Amino acid sequence: MNMNPSLDVEPKSQSFELDKRSVYKCVQCGTCRSVCPVFESVGWESANTRGRMLIIKSLLEGRKPASDVLPSLATCTTCGICAEKCPAGVNPPKVVEAARAELVKQGVVGEGQAKLNNTLVEFGNSFGEQKERLHWLSQAERAALPKKADYVYFVGCFDSYRYPEFAKKTFDVLQKFGVTLLQEERCCASPLLRTGFLESAAKLMEHNLDAIRKTGAHTVITGCAGCYTTLKNDYPDEFRVVSVPEFLAEKLGSLPLKKLKLSVSYHDPCHLGRHNGIYEEPRKVIKAICELKEMKNIRENSRCCGGGGGVRIGYPEISLELAKKRLEDLPEGVDYLVSACPLCVRNLRDAGGEVEVLDLIELVAMALE
Ligand code: SF4
Ligand code: SF4
Repeated sequence: MNMNPSLDVEPKSQSFELDKRSVYKCVQCGTCRSVCPVFESVGWESANTRGRMLIIKSLLEGRKPASDVLPSLATCTTCGICAEKCPAGVNPPKVVEAARAELVKQGVVGEGQAKLNNTLVEFGNSFGEQKERLHWLSQAERAALPKKADYVYFVGCFDSYRYPEFAKKTFDVLQKFGVTLLQEERCCASPLLRTGFLESAAKLMEHNLDAIRKTGAHTVITGCAGCYTTLKNDYPDEFRVVSVPEFLAEKLGSLPLKKLKLSVSYHDPCHLGRHNGIYEEPRKVIKAICELKEMKNIRENSRCCGGGGGVRIGYPEISLELAKKRLEDLPEGVDYLVSACPLCVRNLRDAGGEVEVLDLIELVAMALE
């Protein structure tokens, strides 16, 4: 299906087609019900994985979307723990994303989602910021960026506008390996793909693809888990996509890191961990710097921070509750909680725990001699 014949780009994953077979594979066993963090938080039957699957089945059977459909589908953070546990091999977050796209086609859209779509279409970033994307660099630094490079550092909306200090620290490290930046970078389209606005998403993707192609880069590096999974799984396979933790782990030998007398825990972002199997690399980087004391529920079993799938924007109370719950998994006596995604950092910081939350690049910057 090409959603818009005037565009050459369409999200490559098959998941945006609502595939009946994957919905009918669900045998309603309820295994997922016991792990869905949103159900645990809100307790509505329609907001657990099995309830979502039932609602989607009824939509496929021709039921008109009723008022319970939107909150049921829009509250899934796409954390993927249900897919990890499902004995029938169903991938509920993929089904939910496809169903959301179907609802958007039918014009059934929540207020928060509609606002997000409009903001992204108008400003090219999820915050409605009008500042230049690379405002965190001086004019001279921007002018000196190479036009051609083997590596592109894709910054993402969060680090561009909410954590420019993370962007700066990341760029400082990556620059040693010859990266450039996209002067005209726009949102990778993750928020639109996760919430079903495929046409607007395709336009952003087309813009970024064009900018990446012009640099001639063979590798795109990003420090955001949402950008990572989108560039890797939804963009065409034209370049290698590498997360900052993978890149740092690969280059550990060339980084002058000193050991710090610290003990930290690591929170696995769902879109790096469960969705893409990146568990080892961030741990390798942390262990090169200081002691790692694991949280309860890690790797495949990691609890979601609550920030993904558009839930932070559409249902902030649910999102925060999930973050608070995640902080309960921290062991005693750690100096910092480290993650490798600005959205996780933001949500976990907002939950207001006693332990400071850092992005991995901040820990690396502390250890660089
Ligand atoms: S675990 Fe899988 S088969 Fe069982 S109810 Fe959940 S989605 Fe359906
Ligand atoms: S992806 Fe996460 S939030 Fe969504 S239904 Fe599955 S367990 Fe629940």
